[in-house]
Amino acid sequence: MTRTEHDLPQSTIETADADPNGILLVIHAGAGEYSRKNTPDRRAQVEGDLRKALDAGYALLERGATAEDAVCAAIRVMEDAPEFNAGHGAALTSEGIVSMDACLMTGADGEVGAACGLTTSKNPIEVARAVKERTKHVMFAEPGDEELRSWGVELRDSSYFITDARRESLREAQSNGDEWEKHGTIGAVARDAQGNLAAGTSTGGITNQMPGRVGDSPLPGCGTYASNETVAVSCTGIGEAFVKEVAAHQVSDRVLFGGQKPADAAAAALDGVARHNGDGGMIIVPAEGPGVMIFNSEMMNCGWMSPRGSHVHS
Ligand code: ASP
Repeated sequence: MTRTEHDLPQSTIETADADPNGILLVIHAGAGEYSRKNTPDRRAQVEGDLRKALDAGYALLERGATAEDAVCAAIRVMEDAPEFNAGHGAALTSEGIVSMDACLMTGADGEVGAACGLTTSKNPIEVARAVKERTKHVMFAEPGDEELRSWGVELRDSSYFITDARRESLREAQSNGDEWEKHGTIGAVARDAQGNLAAGTSTGGITNQMPGRVGDSPLPGCGTYASNETVAVSCTGIGEAFVKEVAAHQVSDRVLFGGQKPADAAAAALDGVARHNGDGGMIIVPAEGPGVMIFNSEMMNCGWMSPRGSHVHS
């Protein structure tokens, strides 16, 4: 689908005014158009799984764990949930297989790990974490099962990942010539009790994507970024547009060099995404103050939790 920036109004949700440096977790599970499959049952399922993800990550933050731990815990829950486009239930390529990407970045040290083209990793975010913690590199493409096992990554065969719903989406995309069918990439950003930030994103890419295609999610600075000086960001939407806009890092630069508020910085970056005919959304946790959830698509599944409460939006 091709659109211009003019028909893409933005929606912005700020989290309740958190303690300036208090713990905060914000998550998303994809942005796009309301699907006709968005029945009340499905919506309840989505909201229930968003809450489970928030609970899992926030419980760690409350116990004094790191933002990185919280981000990974929240993402694992969403990767295991079949309705989201990551891990179990990831989107299928034009060849009918999964090709999953993930990235994890910590704001205190600027360390980052990423992987793309994963076909057997139960929780791709754990691969990103292993790359970050166990190698001197930043990104791996299609790491082999032996390597993954040596990193302690849990593996599954292809039947685990492929759901009937994703098969149906692929059939529809291929029969109506619709290249882009999206929804459900997941991400989490957090601030821990020490004031450290972390960001993670995990995706199956876009239904019916060409074999080998990689979007913004695993690319540091494009779909995922964290710096303690500024913000932690995770993006979702038409990856090509987020890459061209270097969207996540741009939010950080606008805050650092332009003195913009995180919400204004994100709105400007999203305008740039729209100029590249992209739509989608971003979640942001800043070094200080409330978190931001912003999207220029019809909807974004997202939520937040802090000492001031929690909210889920779908
Ligand atoms: N950004 C992801 C990609 O382009 C897809 C999505 O967020 O829906 O791979």
